[in-house]
Amino acid sequence: MQEFILDVPTDVVTLAEAVSWAQEKLNQSGSHFIASVNPEICFSARRNSALQKALLAADLKIPDGVGIVLASRLCGGQIRERVTGIDLMEELVALAAAEGKKIFLLGAAEGVAAAAAAKLKERYPPLLVAGTAHGYLPQAQDGELAGSIAASGADLVFVALGSPRQELFVAKYGAASGAKILMVVGGSFDVLSGRLRRAPLLYQRLGLEWFFRLVQQPKRILRVWIMPSFLAAVTQQRLFTGGRKHC
Ligand code: UDP
Repeated sequence: MQEFILDVPTDVVTLAEAVSWAQEKLNQSGSHFIASVNPEICFSARRNSALQKALLAADLKIPDGVGIVLASRLCGGQIRERVTGIDLMEELVALAAAEGKKIFLLGAAEGVAAAAAAKLKERYPPLLVAGTAHGYLPQAQDGELAGSIAASGADLVFVALGSPRQELFVAKYGAASGAKILMVVGGSFDVLSGRLRRAPLLYQRLGLEWFFRLVQQPKRILRVWIMPSFLAAVTQQRLFTGGRKHC
């Protein structure tokens, strides 16, 4: 089941459901795209039709963040649990390790993907890492990059190129990469590599992870300001359409 929030579809899924969805897809043919929906993406999809199209085409769209849960409640929807990109990524890495599937990490500053891969290998032996690549190659080389992912034989690719670049990369090159699942993960490699700290569990439970990230990266202040305008836009759309499950 899906809910549309500011015209962006989000799946009503829990973390456990997302993992079993992925487990099924890992053993099927074809490539599958996991996208993350958050307030920022909802706003930027309004201005960027290519991003909106990529999100519509994604096979699983996780409700990534407290903003989406609040928006769903405001609209009388059923999303009750946020499924963060980093939590789902860790679950999928554990699954890959258990099933002998190969992962590829694409994105973040030079050295970060490799450091994250090394940490994941320690945490989830016997994890198979097909390769890593940083995320600052010229966009003109995206086709070549997809070719090297295909050559690596990766089953699962985590893409951390920032939005909307990561969604557009997966929409365009997902099939060419030959991977079964490509998931966009924003800043997750920075946390998994130890370059940034993830918020302690208490902050996560209280829905205050954004505050912890703001303290570590004060330049995110503009991104935090999005939340009130996002909830205002959702309320306005709901009043305008009178819509339930679609606002
Ligand atoms: N990034 C990248 N290439 C780019 C722009 C960004 O590899 O051209 C990386 C950046 O280094 C960071 C990630 O993409 O690791 C995006 O992180 P951000 O904190 O913006 O994402 P969020 O988690 O907030 O979605």
